[in-house]
Amino acid sequence: MFKQTMTILQKASREPVVLGYKNMLKDPSTKYKPAFTWPSKTITKAPRWLSTDLRDGNQSLPDPMSVEQKKEYFHKLVDTGFKEIEVAFPSASQTDFDFTRYAVENAPDDVKIQALVQSREHLIKRTVESLTGAKNATVHVYLATSDLFRDVVFNMSQKEAVEKAVWATKLVRSLTKDDPTQQATNWTYQFSPECFSDTPPEFAVEICEAVKAAWEPTVENPIIFNLPSTVEVATPNVYADLIEYFSTHISEREKVCISTHCHNDRGCGVAASELGMLAGADRVEGCLFGNGERTGNVDLVTVALNMYTQGVSPNLDFSDLQSVIEVVEKCNKIPVPARAPYGGELVVCAFSGSHQDAIKKGFEAQAKRQAKGDHFWRMPYLPLDPKDIGRDYEAVIRVNSQSGKGGAAWVVLRSLGLDLPRALQISFSTAVQNEADKLGRELKSAEIIDLFKNNYNFDNVGPLAIGEYDVVKNPNVVDGRIFQGEFIVNGEAHKVQGFGNGPISSFLDALSQFTNVRFEVKNYTEHSLGSGSNTKAATFIQLGYLDSENNSNVKWGVGLHEDVSLAALTAIVSTVNSLITSGLNISIHGELKGKKEEERDSIALIHYGIHRKPILGSPESLVTIKNKNTTTNNALFLMETVDCSEGTM
Ligand SMILES: [Zn+2]
Repeated sequence: MFKQTMTILQKASREPVVLGYKNMLKDPSTKYKPAFTWPSKTITKAPRWLSTDLRDGNQSLPDPMSVEQKKEYFHKLVDTGFKEIEVAFPSASQTDFDFTRYAVENAPDDVKIQALVQSREHLIKRTVESLTGAKNATVHVYLATSDLFRDVVFNMSQKEAVEKAVWATKLVRSLTKDDPTQQATNWTYQFSPECFSDTPPEFAVEICEAVKAAWEPTVENPIIFNLPSTVEVATPNVYADLIEYFSTHISEREKVCISTHCHNDRGCGVAASELGMLAGADRVEGCLFGNGERTGNVDLVTVALNMYTQGVSPNLDFSDLQSVIEVVEKCNKIPVPARAPYGGELVVCAFSGSHQDAIKKGFEAQAKRQAKGDHFWRMPYLPLDPKDIGRDYEAVIRVNSQSGKGGAAWVVLRSLGLDLPRALQISFSTAVQNEADKLGRELKSAEIIDLFKNNYNFDNVGPLAIGEYDVVKNPNVVDGRIFQGEFIVNGEAHKVQGFGNGPISSFLDALSQFTNVRFEVKNYTEHSLGSGSNTKAATFIQLGYLDSENNSNVKWGVGLHEDVSLAALTAIVSTVNSLITSGLNISIHGELKGKKEEERDSIALIHYGIHRKPILGSPESLVTIKNKNTTTNNALFLMETVDCSEGTM
């Protein structure tokens, strides 16, 4: 029985199944299509942009712009790359009319000036008058088409609405492109069925078909159907469905420019504009940083830079975003929120330690990728390179009491070029956190740098300096070195000598003898700084010593020098200077500062653990003694191995 089953199974698996498709189609895409295609699309090119800052934005300001402010704003828009600017509602006031004239007279040839008007004869005439003489002008007529607006606000049937729209379009046509005296201007017509997002889609298409027939657009100069989400009433996908419906149902699509005009009532203006583009929109209207009625128009900066971070040029240049923010804030008299996408003061800042650490690692990884020729931006927590919008990396990481070691280390790296070793980062972050706690606020970069310089005596302030010196081979010891030269104390030179197996160890030996304090190098790191002839070595040294209570202690120091060994010696000297300045009792040239003789005795004993009396003799005499002890050991840990039995003086 088992055998039989196996045979059947084997047989069946050998014969491939061929589907018959007697009725169904093998490729149903020739017969069926999805209701909407936009969900599977991506944004691949910039739309036409229309800034309505000076109209929709300005009309919603508690304190509208002065003419001077409008001029400044207008030129900023032009400089940023906007080619279509709605400048005013010229029939509404003399100020708006005058400003429209200013824009017409001052716009570059490739910038189209747009003006809004209601479907009323005298207002349309006044509007055309304001635009006369422009190189490129767009008359923008709007009419209520949503059931709510038609029924409640205007008491107008759908049929009446179509008639009115056609009448207004014909009037504009007769006053513009059909008027022989208006041929100097390239006239475009824009019609907005308001509120499109709340208008039955079939009716939106119907009224726009009638308007299009009245205007008779061309492929070269299409009619603009602006489909506003005047009030955002649904999720962005619903708006996108409406746009795709319109885009696929309007006739002569090639003679039509579909424009979005999204407000932000539900906070989805950016998403609605983006999905609208996927759904077929060719043009996006909005305002910089989302100014506009109620919750505002869509923020064009966000839409543009979202596109940019996907590798698609928006054809708008926000290289100096801060200057855009300044104009917007000055003219609107409304601040750009600190958390506004891209433009907000805090959006490229990381306060938390884990974020800072990730960003710091991200930059390190990126440097390695770039060295291998991979220039793509992949950075934790930073979707956009702050440099692209004119921000510096110093502003990225901000340091408060919540920040970890990475934050302060980042500031030091960016400001001084110093890549602090991990142990020094930890040491410094404690100092930073204490300072931030003490002040109860964030520390500014300059404050962090000051704190670093003070804590690690970066400028090497103090009484001790290295004078002339030489490191020579020790003829008596294999691989031995002798440091011989001068220490300068408060301007006075003292001859010193030390023994070790390298420049640092022999120097440390000389220093330990000279100061009567047992020093040892606990940690040593160095890296190069700068490039070419400006290259320096940066050295970080953690120096171990015994304090006056005989406790083992450590202190970090930093040294910079063109010469790598001198950088290390500088790090050590600056640390010792820092210890002297902060009150550590260090003997310099045989004199223990501020201590009585009996105390010096005991301190010296503590420091050396071997002497019966303090070392008060000349450095030369000390060296003689030490020489016996340094012949066989690693001089970096010289004092650890001093033989007590020989240590009497
Ligand atoms: Zn609007």
